[in-house]
Amino acid sequence: MTAGLNPEGGLTIGGVDICDAVLEHGTPTFFYDRKHLITRAQEAATAFDSGTSYASKAFLCRAMAKLMHDAGLFLDVASGGEAFTALDAGVPGARCVLHGNNKSLGELRYALENGFHRIVVDCIEEIERIELLNERYGFIAQVLVRVNPGVEAHTHEFIQTGQDDSKFGFSLSSGAAEAAVARIRNSPAISLVGVHMHIGSQIFETSSFRKAIETIAPFFLPLGLTELVVGGGLGVPYINDEPTLTIADWASEVRQAARDAGISPNVRLIAEPGRVIAGPAAVTVYRVGAIKPMPADTPTGERNYLSVNGGMSDNPRPVLYGSGYEAFLPRDVLAERNTPFRIVGKHCESGDVVVRDAWLPESTIVGDLVATPVTGAYGYSMASNYNRVPKPPVVFCYDGVAQTVVRRQTYEDLLSLDV
Ligand SMILES: *Cc1c(COP(=O)(O)O)cnc(C)c1O
Repeated sequence: MTAGLNPEGGLTIGGVDICDAVLEHGTPTFFYDRKHLITRAQEAATAFDSGTSYASKAFLCRAMAKLMHDAGLFLDVASGGEAFTALDAGVPGARCVLHGNNKSLGELRYALENGFHRIVVDCIEEIERIELLNERYGFIAQVLVRVNPGVEAHTHEFIQTGQDDSKFGFSLSSGAAEAAVARIRNSPAISLVGVHMHIGSQIFETSSFRKAIETIAPFFLPLGLTELVVGGGLGVPYINDEPTLTIADWASEVRQAARDAGISPNVRLIAEPGRVIAGPAAVTVYRVGAIKPMPADTPTGERNYLSVNGGMSDNPRPVLYGSGYEAFLPRDVLAERNTPFRIVGKHCESGDVVVRDAWLPESTIVGDLVATPVTGAYGYSMASNYNRVPKPPVVFCYDGVAQTVVRRQTYEDLLSLDV
């Protein structure tokens, strides 16, 4: 959102000259546009109803939790660790929602002790655990029941969640959802507030959300509940010519679909965006360490391998999903990108690809910085220490300031768990 050019054509974000910032912060580094994060969060909080939350699994640290909370969103957390981070950042439990398909007794207890706003129940075992905690401590849980509407969103299989055969939620078509509601309504430990669904991620067709609402409405309406959560999943463009959808368009499609399905305007329509808030807000900046030309008679034709000092440890999405990215040189953003490269990481795997089919300027040399945009979601949060490569730092850029919000891991950090 605040990306721009310095007088030499170099990249700035939030008024921070990225090539200068690298001198202080090193590479690889995640640079986030803080204003972008805030603006998208505010858009979501405004477009949907109260209770709308940021899906923190997309990217979470204390600074991010606080930013999302201050922007008016609740925090959707899917594990004890995410919950701990949100609470430690100062987000009140009353602004947190607990997710997950296998919440432990400890996680449920932690959420209830901290007065979580909602718990999204995903299986019968969780109902039993909540009842056990009620018997022991007297907690009453405010619950949404996660229903699997059996709608297939057009997205990658691993990030599709709403089709009938899924580990998530109670299936609508099998009758499991109805049975779960009956079970919950009989429980003195649980107050049922609403219905939740989440049909997948990186969805570009808002008609998928309409279809899910149409499918769930006949189940939802007779229950007389006041909350319907439509999940997250709005897609973001990673590569040129992918569409850009706005949060406002998504919300208006959801609202219209709900009206068309006969859902009362008094029902709160709630969403849980993750990727659309965090993804496009960041670039990862790497340093080029090697360029290896491949002869024209290789099966794939002439192509140069360009090795950077990160890879699948800071961005596993290409390996996991075959995801594509663009790449450019922060020193000369608008330079014509006319030369094909395969950008690869430094890990001991042939599959360690950052950008399979990248185009960079012909002038690209060893020592250059290379940036991959749209790495703000499911990058840092899925990062690993494979090859004992330390995780990069996270830097928020705004008002000409580059603020480290997560420092770079050190080698000592890598040993900190060894006993
Ligand atoms: C992952 C997830 C989200 C966020 O998905 P995005 O595609 O990042 O918007 C929202 N709700 C639930 C339940 C999720 O699992």
